[in-house]
Amino acid sequence: MSVSRRQFITLAGGAASVLGLGLVGCNSASNGGSGSSSSDKTYIVATDTTFAPFEFTNDSNEFVGIDVDILAAIAADQGFSYELNSLGFDAAVAALESNQADAVIAGMSITEERQEKYDFSDPYYDSYVCAAVADGSDIQDLEGLRGQTVACKTGTQSASWAESIADEYGLSITYFDQSDMMYQDVLTGNSAACFEDYPVMAYGVSQDNGLRIVGTEEEEFATPYGFAVMKGENSELIDMFNTGLANIRESGEYDEIVAKYLEA
Ligand code: GLN
Repeated sequence: MSVSRRQFITLAGGAASVLGLGLVGCNSASNGGSGSSSSDKTYIVATDTTFAPFEFTNDSNEFVGIDVDILAAIAADQGFSYELNSLGFDAAVAALESNQADAVIAGMSITEERQEKYDFSDPYYDSYVCAAVADGSDIQDLEGLRGQTVACKTGTQSASWAESIADEYGLSITYFDQSDMMYQDVLTGNSAACFEDYPVMAYGVSQDNGLRIVGTEEEEFATPYGFAVMKGENSELIDMFNTGLANIRESGEYDEIVAKYLEA
């Protein structure tokens, strides 16, 4: 399937105006003349806003991260063009569902439930969920959260974990669209804890975000990240992503990207 330039502009403009957010990146990768490029389509890929080390704005005001870099590396390897649209997690999934995005890369967990609606790439990063409190809090474990208000991010796996234990622990959940707002609610003391993906919280803690991890769920909510498209659509994009992912794993570029963020 290809999209004409006119349709594409309408689509991009619609995404920007409906969601009130613009494009953060535009990448065009050519295949260097090897002649295998199948399409001149520019794929619109939706992502999160603040989800370091997977996608975030760095001190130099550049939108960077493991997702951002592996997508760029895979597109360069496979010779496809894309525009990356930073919307927030729930909004990125909504953009995919409303056909305003072709794909999502946003530390998106491959769950059985989601596999009914979306086609995922091969997994590219292992993850599970955790709960974190303010560093100075007395709370040491999940028991300490009994009867408390906790912060969750709409539509995420960590929210699903909190929801699954809310009755047992008497939790009241406040929802946020962005991870940084959720952390802020804990730092200001409105919420006793927030629920987040472990690799993201562990990275934040290592960057002195003022939070401390008090519990994890590594069994039921152990779900790797994948690149997603709507079921049955953009299958050529999933194929290119998978082939490119295998190539950058093979070449060592994948490891270099992960090390760049995690071993800095
Ligand atoms: N991995 C989590 C999920 O897919 C959270 C993703 C995110 O917040 N960007 O639900």
